[in-house]
Amino acid sequence: MKTKHAFRYVGTPDPMTEREAYHCEKYIKKNKAKMIQAGQYLVDVSALLSLFHLDCWNCRRVHRETCCEGGQPYAVEEWQIPIIEQHVPAIASRLSDDQERTNWQAENVWDQKQPSGTIRMRHGNCLFYQENNGRYGCAIHAYAEQTGQDVQPMKPLSCQLYPIDLIETGEAILLTAVTEETSSFSRWGTDYLEQFYCASQERRRQAVHLDGKLFALDGYRPAYEWNLPLLRYLLQEKANRIEKILADSHSQASVQA
Ligand code: SF4
Repeated sequence: MKTKHAFRYVGTPDPMTEREAYHCEKYIKKNKAKMIQAGQYLVDVSALLSLFHLDCWNCRRVHRETCCEGGQPYAVEEWQIPIIEQHVPAIASRLSDDQERTNWQAENVWDQKQPSGTIRMRHGNCLFYQENNGRYGCAIHAYAEQTGQDVQPMKPLSCQLYPIDLIETGEAILLTAVTEETSSFSRWGTDYLEQFYCASQERRRQAVHLDGKLFALDGYRPAYEWNLPLLRYLLQEKANRIEKILADSHSQASVQA
């Protein structure tokens, strides 16, 4: 028999609470008729078509801090630990700050006081949030791009997923995105919707004081479109079918609008 404990976020050992599992189950029951089953995936079409603008390079220009600051990312699963560890010396060697490099060499990248796979914090931010050519961002992502390697296996999966969510329910894997309706159980919670322009075109529309090029209103696109490379990596042979379902639904919605 399925229990609430069967509910878990895909890509991290960090658990869902009983309350999150409860809200997730309730949401699926209420909306299942509108979702599309593709193999083991339950595709939450309307959530995945909700609009986002991941103008991440401009995040710090309009917000006090980015989503990589002020906290730890979701822990990575066991399989991703050795992959990250394998690249840490090369990532560290590219740091421009000697003190940072020394610190990385002296200490592990993991937070030993937290569950396995939790990246430690430094200066109040995720350790990998670093300066690169004058810009702050993810050192793992920058390293992968600059060395021509695939980012998907080496960057924490949860960090790559936003604004999408993948939740194992014991019967299926819910493929959804963070919206007003899913925030009660999504790993992304309510913060993004309430604080960040990337998740709310309406909040951005009201921010008339901002330069129109920052989080430009015409740059908002369906959630799934921001994550196509990751979805193809994770969903494998199901990716084409799910991408087509979403693209067709988006076209229909655009025609009806
Ligand atoms: S691993 Fe990279 S993307 Fe994830 S929180 Fe740290 S800096 Fe940000």
